[in-house]
Amino acid sequence: MKAVDSEKCSECSIATETVKYLILHCPNSELCKIVGASCKSLGIEPKIEIALSHERLVDTIHKQWRRKQFASGGHNAGAKRRQKIF
Ligand SMILES: [Zn+2]
Repeated sequence: MKAVDSEKCSECSIATETVKYLILHCPNSELCKIVGASCKSLGIEPKIEIALSHERLVDTIHKQWRRKQFASGGHNAGAKRRQKIF
């Protein structure tokens, strides 16, 4: 098994992994689907600045993020790096 390049998205390995990408644009990310649906139901634009300034949405992202880290077993450095972002 090849080591995951930390520059690439851990979900799809296509694009560079950024918070914006992981939250809004990754085709493989469950978080994107949830954020997209939340934006719709809250009636806000699916933009990173708006999403991260919206308390309820940030809360949703946090919960989802933690669950994902649990599921991955904490064996990758990316999870640690991500934790520092918030
Ligand atoms: Zn991705």
